[in-house]
Amino acid sequence: MKSRGSVAIIGGSMAGLFAAISLRSLNFDVNIFERSAGDLTNGGAGIATHSELYDALETAGVELRAEMGIQSNGRIMFDNEGKIMHRVVMKQIMTSWGLIYRFLRKQIPKENYHSEHCLKNLSFSGKSVTAVFANGDNVTTDWLIGADGARSQVRRIVAPTITPIYAGYLGWRGLIDENLIPKEVVDQLSLQMAFGMAPGGHWLGYLVAGPDDALNEGNRWYNWGWYRTADEDSLQAHLTDSNGEFHHNGIPAHLIRKEIISVMREEAKKFLAPQIEKIIESTATPFLQPMYDFSSKQLVFERAILVGDAAFTARPHVGMGVSKAAFDASSLAQALSKNNPASLKEWESSRLKFGRAAVQWGRDLGSYLGPKATDPVSKQKAEYYMRPETLLSVTASSEPQKYLRMEA
Ligand SMILES: Cc1cc2nc3c(=O)[nH]c(=O)nc-3n(C[C@H](O)[C@H](O)[C@H](O)COP(=O)(O)OP(=O)(O)OC[C@H]3O[C@@H](n4cnc5c(N)ncnc54)[C@H](O)[C@@H]3O)c2cc1C
Repeated sequence: MKSRGSVAIIGGSMAGLFAAISLRSLNFDVNIFERSAGDLTNGGAGIATHSELYDALETAGVELRAEMGIQSNGRIMFDNEGKIMHRVVMKQIMTSWGLIYRFLRKQIPKENYHSEHCLKNLSFSGKSVTAVFANGDNVTTDWLIGADGARSQVRRIVAPTITPIYAGYLGWRGLIDENLIPKEVVDQLSLQMAFGMAPGGHWLGYLVAGPDDALNEGNRWYNWGWYRTADEDSLQAHLTDSNGEFHHNGIPAHLIRKEIISVMREEAKKFLAPQIEKIIESTATPFLQPMYDFSSKQLVFERAILVGDAAFTARPHVGMGVSKAAFDASSLAQALSKNNPASLKEWESSRLKFGRAAVQWGRDLGSYLGPKATDPVSKQKAEYYMRPETLLSVTASSEPQKYLRMEA
């Protein structure tokens, strides 16, 4: 069958790979350009699954394994003495970012995946677009897809006014071999997502597949995150290394100052359950992620199109980034294959609605974090979302359709 046209995809992570797989299946000539060298490492670490994610994987033709991750039977919240203060039943598989990434990556031929290609610029001419890379290469193509994440260079060029907004809090993260945690703690936490509440933000953690996607006891990893309110000064302090350099796009784990990590460990001792404190203590190299979100107003810019986190980044509480990226990509491939502007317009309108709903859901879940609400409505919302019963049921729910409020 004759090719339907050429597509250059900027970014070879989740959205880029899903787009490439869907477009290849519809007979487009696809090339991915990724700025990193080699394979990507565990970007999001733990991923809570739901039927939308399985649908997305199946639509992309990914062969589902019988076991996609670790079974979790529900959520529990510990008080600061280590007693369970709340429980919610929610059966869910906790998979890992790496496991899904490797599934997808295998399906793209080596010759169509170009590592070490960092996009610098774009130019448009009639029905084509030319991408220029930092290494001097360039490519001219029928369509260009910006799948280059929250700090997208494609978006910077086509929609420079849309930038990520700091949410007023950051996330401490850890991903460690389960054998580093005392066995009695792993046993107590192994079949559920665990939560703890501290002033300024909640902690959560769960077991995920280990290296080489191992799921058996003794070979898994434990993935955790602790959200902490941090104003601009505190953010600046967290992201500044011992040489005084400020890493505004995120600080590499090995450069986080020891005293910043010590304060976090001291606060864990003070506010969190002893089981949780042991997990934090066992994490030699915790890392930091400032929380941002934003919404795009437009996704199609002549021949360049935004998908995944480049289009909308929702806060991670929703646990939907991967399935959103997958549906952006597979529905875009369908729209492009129809080869008429109306289909592309319809695609853009439906993905704008979905993206806005995901961002709003993340803001609702994070409404008690960050700067204190002052007006009565926001205060009431914050109080509602910090209740254990809400937090445990709504965070990365196995039924996201219940919480996504789509505009008509
Ligand atoms: C703490 C945390 C927890 C999360 N938990 C979940 C969860 O449970 N479930 C879930 O579904 N999602 C979760 N997510 C979100 C999920 O990881 C992202 O939504 C998803 O990875 C988005 O994929 P993407 O391909 O759009 O962007 P990214 O994964 O950010 O990929 C962008 C790619 O583009 C490349 N790139 C960037 N600039 C350029 C350039 N100029 N030229 C070439 N290449 C470039 C980058 O190197 C990168 O490989 C979580 C995220 C965080 C931060």
